[in-house]
Amino acid sequence: MIPDVDDTPLPTPARRTLLRGGLVGAVALGGAALTASAASATPTAPAASRPTTAAAALRELAAGNRRWRTFRERHPDESPTVRQSLTQGQHPYAVVLGCIDSRVPPELVFDQGLGDLMTVRTAGEVLDEAVLGSVAYGVLELGIPLVLVLGHQSCGAVRAAVEADLSGERLPAHIQYLADQIRPVIDRGEEGDARIDATIDANVLAVRSRLAAEPDLAAKITAGKLVVAGARYELTTQTVHRLA
Ligand SMILES: [Zn+2]
Repeated sequence: MIPDVDDTPLPTPARRTLLRGGLVGAVALGGAALTASAASATPTAPAASRPTTAAAALRELAAGNRRWRTFRERHPDESPTVRQSLTQGQHPYAVVLGCIDSRVPPELVFDQGLGDLMTVRTAGEVLDEAVLGSVAYGVLELGIPLVLVLGHQSCGAVRAAVEADLSGERLPAHIQYLADQIRPVIDRGEEGDARIDATIDANVLAVRSRLAAEPDLAAKITAGKLVVAGARYELTTQTVHRLA
């Protein structure tokens, strides 16, 4: 979730967030994740303890992403015992709203297993009624304490939206819906690939804000029972870092 300080330089908004949000915490998280992976258990070991708070959920995701990007995956919660126990119900600890991109499957990039994450995926993490309903189901019915909006480097949906905006061309079929949702957050202060990259971040932040403003979710946030966060996955380093 939050990279080590010696990782690849972050895009400017992420760097600002880190500096504002507390670099000390980032270092501590990195250290904890490193310790966890050094003491990694057997490949099919279930998660030791399930996060029940947003902070614990973020730590678990950070640890999982560290395992992923350092090629030390544990592939948790896949064992016969876990599969059997899950027939009795599910208690995922985070909702991840991510892109459909085949290079960013949440369970892989966070090294999580069955029953751990409730994933909702649409191109460019675009919202619609079905997505809002799915997120609400996870939070309100299953009591999940964390919703993470996960964008990523080189997002084709964002690129298509930016390019359609420039050309004025209409995209085929329902793809235009995706572009229409992303267009308001296009970063017009940048040009070319920089515009696409900046819009990837802006889109995550906008989706995060819209989710956080949903009345039922906002009430949970106010009560301290929910965090809605934004993050971005870098294809080049396989690192997930917080945007908000
Ligand atoms: Zn994408």
